[in-house]
Amino acid sequence: MNAAELTECMVGLGEPRWRGRQLAEAIYRQRIVDVEVITTLPKALRQKIAEEGWQIGRPRIVQVFTSVDGTERYLVQGRAPDGLTVETVWMPEGDDGEAGDGSDDSGPVPASLNESGKGWDRATICVSSQVGCAVNCQFCLTAKLGLQRNLAAGEIAGQVVAVLDRQKVEVGKDRVNLVFMGMGEPFLNYDNFMAAVRLLVEEVGLSPQRMTVSTSGIVPGIQRFAEEPLEVRPKLAISLNAPNDEIRSEVMPINRKWPIDAVVDAVRGIRLRTRERITFEYVLLGGVTDQPQHAAEVARLVRRTGLPAKVNLIAWNPGPGIAYETPQAVAVETFRRALAAGGVPVYLRRPRGRDIYAACGQLKRTVEG
Ligand code: SAH
Ligand code: SF4
Repeated sequence: MNAAELTECMVGLGEPRWRGRQLAEAIYRQRIVDVEVITTLPKALRQKIAEEGWQIGRPRIVQVFTSVDGTERYLVQGRAPDGLTVETVWMPEGDDGEAGDGSDDSGPVPASLNESGKGWDRATICVSSQVGCAVNCQFCLTAKLGLQRNLAAGEIAGQVVAVLDRQKVEVGKDRVNLVFMGMGEPFLNYDNFMAAVRLLVEEVGLSPQRMTVSTSGIVPGIQRFAEEPLEVRPKLAISLNAPNDEIRSEVMPINRKWPIDAVVDAVRGIRLRTRERITFEYVLLGGVTDQPQHAAEVARLVRRTGLPAKVNLIAWNPGPGIAYETPQAVAVETFRRALAAGGVPVYLRRPRGRDIYAACGQLKRTVEG
């Protein structure tokens, strides 16, 4: 529930409207997990809330996998009776793609953060939007699950809050970025995804400029996104992943429905902030999308869009039952240089948590929650 819904709930209990704001403050800012200890509310009201059956919910982290590089991957279970789980990933020191690529321009880390004793100066949380995914990209492990169901807004925002709690993050003090790049296609669960963003911005207090949502190119979703007010609109990343429609349709069949030009046209409708850039993500598939002629094509394509843009290169992370190959290190470096030489800002994303299957595109539920 957002503050407005909490207010209606309080009014229903015969309380003044401002109790809703007070409750939102306790639940989302102070992150109190038990009504009993919200001491800003009178004891009688706390009892009444409990008697009415209201609880402060949190998705449960049911399993934790820890990588040698500090990445933590969580299996997170909502409150729905189906018990389904999704995966959420914590990456201390960012992922070199979103936090380390110049898009986080909030300046040097203040010394006080280094002294916070938390062991990290900045971090990125990778968030899921659906259980599984219907999009069927040929290189992605999540695709193998198919779509099991949409996540509710509370389940999406709740993943973030559960991790903030676990890592003792102080919002407004610690530097945390969110990437909606976990399981699922956010723009095929648009209403719940945006409701979650509003909860995270308006109630939890996170900045939308520290959030990036990635889409495989769902044009109607991008068009709706373009209408969102700046105060709650995250930054946008497009999974390009191929140099032209022919190859893209092969690796991302969704391209037959919404080809590259249609996606780019929709992106042009977004009113960008000063210095905001569109990210094009590009998964390098060995022999398939990593050749020098592909790099030249991508450089031309990105320049032709006329958009303020950058490219995040990701070497494909292998997964069981997927018949692609990880690109050669030299191919990755040659590709990166060709884009840079072609005038395109380009960043190489370092794989994180590969040993625990937490790297990009490797998220797939492996344990029944
Ligand atoms: N559904 C959205 C967001 C989740 S996927 C989307 O597709 O954009 C997040 C990113 O992971 C996408 O850019 C996708 O291309 C990339 N990805 C998927 N499988 C991958 C793999 N095996 N290795 C590297 N990146 C992968
Ligand atoms: Fe879905 Fe994104 Fe994976 Fe494609 S890459 S199947 S859109 S999660």
